Amino acid sequence: MLRHRFTLETLLALWIAATVICCPRSIDAASPAGGERPNILFVFCDDHAYQAISAYRPICPHNIPLNYTPHIDRLAHEGMRFDNCYVTNSICGPARAVIQTGKYSHKNGFCCNGNRFDGTQQTFPKLLQKVGYQTAVVGKWHLGEHMPPQGFDYAEVLIGQGPYYNPPMLRNGERVEHTGYTTDIITDLTLQWLEKKRDPAKPFLLMYQHKAPHRRWDPGPKYLTKYDDIAIPEPATLFDDYQGRGTPAKTQDMSIARTMDDQDLKMVPPPKLTPEQQHTWEAAYEPKNEAFRQAKLEGRDLVRWKYQRYMKDYLRCIASVDENLGRVLDYLDRTGLVDNTVVIYTSDQGFYLGEHGWFDKRWMYEETLRTPLIVRWPKRIHARSVNKDIVSNVDFAETFLDLAGAEVPGDMQGRSLVPLMHGQTPSDWRKTFYYQYFEFPGPHDVRRHCGVTDGRYKLIHFYEPDVKEWELYDLQSDPYELTSVYGHPMYGKEQARMEKELERLKKELEVPDEDPPQSYLGGMERYRKAVERIHQRRKEFEK
Ligand code: CA
Repeated sequence: MLRHRFTLETLLALWIAATVICCPRSIDAASPAGGERPNILFVFCDDHAYQAISAYRPICPHNIPLNYTPHIDRLAHEGMRFDNCYVTNSICGPARAVIQTGKYSHKNGFCCNGNRFDGTQQTFPKLLQKVGYQTAVVGKWHLGEHMPPQGFDYAEVLIGQGPYYNPPMLRNGERVEHTGYTTDIITDLTLQWLEKKRDPAKPFLLMYQHKAPHRRWDPGPKYLTKYDDIAIPEPATLFDDYQGRGTPAKTQDMSIARTMDDQDLKMVPPPKLTPEQQHTWEAAYEPKNEAFRQAKLEGRDLVRWKYQRYMKDYLRCIASVDENLGRVLDYLDRTGLVDNTVVIYTSDQGFYLGEHGWFDKRWMYEETLRTPLIVRWPKRIHARSVNKDIVSNVDFAETFLDLAGAEVPGDMQGRSLVPLMHGQTPSDWRKTFYYQYFEFPGPHDVRRHCGVTDGRYKLIHFYEPDVKEWELYDLQSDPYELTSVYGHPMYGKEQARMEKELERLKKELEVPDEDPPQSYLGGMERYRKAVERIHQRRKEFEK
C-alpha cells in the first residue's frame, strides 16, 4: 500500500515539475537591488514538521496523509517549495540564533536552550535597518528577556515559551496582558502592525512568529473537537525497537510510550483559562477523557491511544496556524502588498510525529534535520516550483540581506538563496552539510552528536567520553534510518569519503575541538548525573 501511494505521489511531483517547465510565467529576472526592494514577511512556526504540511506530502518517507493545510499549500502553489532545507542544530533557541546571525551555534554562542543570546552581536535585522528597512517582530522570540529583541523598530513578543491561552507579552519591553488564543492574538497584532504601524515609505521586515505547534499542543477553542471522528494513520516505525542503531537511540527519553505526561495528553486543562474558556475546554475533553479512563488501555493499545491524542492536538494547533496565515495572505491581496512581498514559511526545526515511537526533535535523523521552507515572491519565483538543493536556516540571514540589496558580511556562514529562487543554482553550491547538537544534559536525554550528509548518505558521530559511536545510513536503501551500515565492508568507500568530508567541513566552519563551555549547562556534576541516568536506562533496555 505504501509503495503504491509512493508511486502515485511521485507521479504527482513529476507532473508539478513538468507544469513548471512547460508553462513559465513572465518573471522579472533583474537583481532585487535593481528594482523596488521587496518587503519580507517571515512566517515562523515552532516545531512544525514538514510531514504535517499537505504540500510536502510527495516527499514524506512515511507518505501518509495527516492533514490539509490549504493556506500554507497556497504559498507552495504560488511559489517555491524547498525539499531539502536542513537546520544546523535541531532545537528551538539555537535555531533562532542561527537565523538572526547567519552563523552556526559554535560561532553565535547560543548552543543550547538556556544559553544567553548575545543580542549585541551582528544580526540581520540590524543590517536591514541600516539600509532603510522598517523592522518588526511579533510573537515568539525565545532568545531571552535579558534584553529586548535587538534590531527591531517594533517588538511584541511572548515571554519565554509563552502559553497557548491569554499570553502576557512584552511590547517594546513593556508588559501587556492579552485574553484569547495565542495564535489568533499573534495574528491580530501582526495585522494591526501592517495596518497602523507600517511606514509605507519604507520596505519592511516583519517576523510573524507563532508559539504553535510547540509542546503541550493546546488547540484553539474552534478546533477542540476537530479530528474526533477519524483515526490518524500511524507511521511504520511507531513501535521501533531501535535494533540496528547504537546506544543513543536506545537510551533517549522522548518516546510517546514512556515520556508523555498528563499535560501532553490533556488529562489536565491549560493553566489560567477564563471561566468561559474552561467551560468550552471541559465540554470538549471531559467526555473523551472519561471514555479513555473507562477503557483501561495497556501495552500497544495505550501507545496507540496516546499517539492519536498527541497527533490530533498537534494537528489542531496547526489548523489555527493555517487559518490565521490565510487572514494575513488575504490582507496582502486586499492591499496590493502581495506583488512585492516575499513570504517565507518555515519552522525552527522539524518534529517526530510518532516516527521511531517519538515526539520532539534534536536528532540528525531526517524528520528533525529537515524543516519546511516555502517561499512565495510573485514577481520573481515561478509558481509551483520545487528546489532540491541542500539549503539551510544558516542561509536565511544572507538571503534577506540579498533581497534588500545589502552587503552580506564575510563572517556569515551561509549563502543567499535568491539565485536558487530564480532557478539558477550556482555551480559551486554546497553538496554536503554539517550538523551539530549540543544539549546534553538536557530534556529527553539525546546525546551530543555531529555529522555530515550529502542527501544520500549520512554519517553521525556521537562523541561524548562514555559513548563514542558512529552511525552511517544509506537513505536510498533505508529511508527510515533503521539500520546503520557503519563498518559494513560494502560501504567502506562511502564511509571513508564521508569521514573525510566531516573533517573538511569542521575545518571550513571553524568548529572547535572542544564544545563551548557554556553548552555544559549546570556544570559537570549535572552532566555526570545525566550519564548515570542513561546507563541505568541502558541496563533496563538490555533486560
Ligand atoms: Ca522548536
